[in-house]
Amino acid sequence: MTRDVALEAEVQRIGRALAQRFPSPARHPLRALDQRAMRLASEDEQIRAALFRLVDVTPATHSVDDLARHLIGYLEEISERPPSLDTALKISDTAPGRAALGTATTAAVRHMAHRFIVGESPSAALADIAALWRHGIAVSVDLLGEATVTPDEADRYAERCHDALETLAEAAGRWPERRWLERDSAGPVPRVNLSVKVTALTPLMRPQAPHLGRDDAAGRMRPLLRRARELDAHLHVDMESLDSLETTIELVLGLLAEPEFRRGPSAGVVVQAYLRDSPAQLDRLLEWAAATERGSPLVVRLVKGAYWDQEVIEARQHGWRPPVFERKSECDRNFELLTRRLLDARPLVRVKVGSHNLRSVAHAIAYSRLGGGADADLELQVLRGLGDELAEALRAERLRVRSYCPVGDLVAGMAYLVRRLLENTSNDSFLRAHAHGAPVEELLAAP
Ligand SMILES: Cc1cc2nc3c(=O)[nH]c(=O)nc-3n(C[C@H](O)[C@H](O)[C@H](O)COP(=O)(O)OP(=O)(O)OC[C@H]3O[C@@H](n4cnc5c(N)ncnc54)[C@H](O)[C@@H]3O)c2cc1C
Repeated sequence: MTRDVALEAEVQRIGRALAQRFPSPARHPLRALDQRAMRLASEDEQIRAALFRLVDVTPATHSVDDLARHLIGYLEEISERPPSLDTALKISDTAPGRAALGTATTAAVRHMAHRFIVGESPSAALADIAALWRHGIAVSVDLLGEATVTPDEADRYAERCHDALETLAEAAGRWPERRWLERDSAGPVPRVNLSVKVTALTPLMRPQAPHLGRDDAAGRMRPLLRRARELDAHLHVDMESLDSLETTIELVLGLLAEPEFRRGPSAGVVVQAYLRDSPAQLDRLLEWAAATERGSPLVVRLVKGAYWDQEVIEARQHGWRPPVFERKSECDRNFELLTRRLLDARPLVRVKVGSHNLRSVAHAIAYSRLGGGADADLELQVLRGLGDELAEALRAERLRVRSYCPVGDLVAGMAYLVRRLLENTSNDSFLRAHAHGAPVEELLAAP
């Protein structure tokens, strides 16, 4: 059997084993409601637009009547409304009807948000985070709030990061031992893991002058790195849209190479496989890792990328070729290629694969195992609310899985929530295909 055939057979075997562990859809009535809303939205562009506008406006409304009036306005613009939405419009003719509609809508939007957002503050989220850990799932906390506009906002975000590190480190000392979550071949894996966004750490992001944002963000990032080292926490720098990529990479690689940070803390970056340039970006990271001696290997999280619509729209507005692949299969193939390159680069880097796509995940596990890698040397990551079932299946297989848990209020979470809705309802999404009952052979087909 050639290596490719053996790999494909192993992908199918692992993928099927994981698929069997997916539970049946949850029976919670509100969950069923938001699943129906997602389904309607993924079938009709106008409903999709109405859902996004509704989610966007909810935190700004001042009463249930106000929210109901917004909803009615959006529904009236839909040319062919399904019967359930027509009923909603009929109810709204009277004040009590509007109150009922507004109350139900608020509850549904809040419920949808709570699927993705774990709590309003790190301390409010502690019980859920500790429960996940006890159950065998690690967490990365993400403080909601992106793209700051003033230095004060950036200072406040940095302060929230400090508080989160302190709160989590204090609590993590009481969590029980979970050996497979806290050790790999390179040594201990920190219990506390915080994801940060560079656009929140500086208001000076300028794609044409990356040094401006880099230097300003570095002033807030250095104290964070120091505190993370003292508390033995991991800091992960998320990747955002392409216009902040160069600043982000320059910032992280520059800081981690400074003598002060050579011995720690553990830190990481993200590679987005939807970018046509991502193989070259991975080359750059691996060359840096090979040339830079550090106490703890650079952590690389591989994802597909969350800003696909934005990148395509912006490029088209300028008449440029989009920087992202335009066919989903190309993106998925590139994801598998980069997965293999990253896994082959161990122990130079620690590898995290962030995806809810059963095929992409099974491919990573299969390739790692076929190459003789220990399961502990591959971390799988999911987003809270989107990948909970997959996380549970991976945990049951004794694989290391980490759930990315946003923390913050509904207003700060809107951009995040809208990105998750875009993903959930897009035609090309794995989760959509899964929710619509696509057969397992289709879900596991090679891209
Ligand atoms: C733990 C974790 C951390 C993450 N951190 C980040 C981060 O720092 N930065 C970031 O940008 N994203 C991040 N993401 C989101 C991630 O990039 C994806 O958006 C999300 O995981 C969906 O990809 P998938 O493999 O789960 O699902 P799939 O359904 O297999 O893939 C969906 C993805 O495919 C791509 N795609 C969709 N349509 C097309 C098309 N027509 N042509 C080409 N490509 C297409 C898009 O990237 C889309 O998000 C993170 C995800 C996880 C799980």
